[in-house]
Amino acid sequence: MLQHLAGTALCFALCLVLISGLRAPRTWILAAIGLVPAAGACVAFTTAAFDLAIEPLARYAHGLAALALGFAHAVVYSLTALPRERVWMRGLLMFSGLWGGALAALWLFSPSRSTWLDVALVVFALATLAAWAALPFLSRERGFTRHGELVVPSVRFACPRCGTRVDWGKGVAACTDCGLFLHIAWPAPEPIAAAPVPDARRVRFACPECGSRERWPTGLSTCSRCGLRLSLHWNVHPSGR
Ligand SMILES: [Zn+2]
Ligand SMILES: [Zn+2]
Repeated sequence: MLQHLAGTALCFALCLVLISGLRAPRTWILAAIGLVPAAGACVAFTTAAFDLAIEPLARYAHGLAALALGFAHAVVYSLTALPRERVWMRGLLMFSGLWGGALAALWLFSPSRSTWLDVALVVFALATLAAWAALPFLSRERGFTRHGELVVPSVRFACPRCGTRVDWGKGVAACTDCGLFLHIAWPAPEPIAAAPVPDARRVRFACPECGSRERWPTGLSTCSRCGLRLSLHWNVHPSGR
């Protein structure tokens, strides 16, 4: 029973990861698809824990959980910040987990075993584990980004268009994934506008001067703690993002 309840807890955590992925335009479809097996696995594990004898559901709980884990992995790697020079790795990192989850589900669902499936599963499982081990190093916030040879101070927040977290270099920077151009400067040279714009879009990140986390509106603003002036602009897409 405890094992099955642990399965329910894991699948609930996967649901939370996938629900957070619904908010990003880049991953909402992936997250919505992943929620189906995640919710199914939650039901199946809970049913098995209380021994309600709905045998097919209990049998497929592990397979559904593997499938949901693959989708949650893909959502996390799709949105995680990667150094500009390593963004090419995103596809490999994302798909290793997605394929690993799908193959594990196939392996669990399938009544017979085949060598090619075993081999493929081991390869993708190892690639997924390597991706998990590398995540803290790859997504570490360094406080700077590289524009070619140039090292530029940066701040990290989710791209207003695609939702991927990006280290935006001071000055003009492009999103690593969707190419949105954004201008960010501090200390801003211009004086602060007298009245704040009521419908200004906002993003949340740590003040580059004092580290206090603030919600910064587009245009000109000041840090509420240290008074740093910051200017932030990006192109508005026709869809309003
Ligand atoms: Zn973007
Ligand atoms: Zn500050």
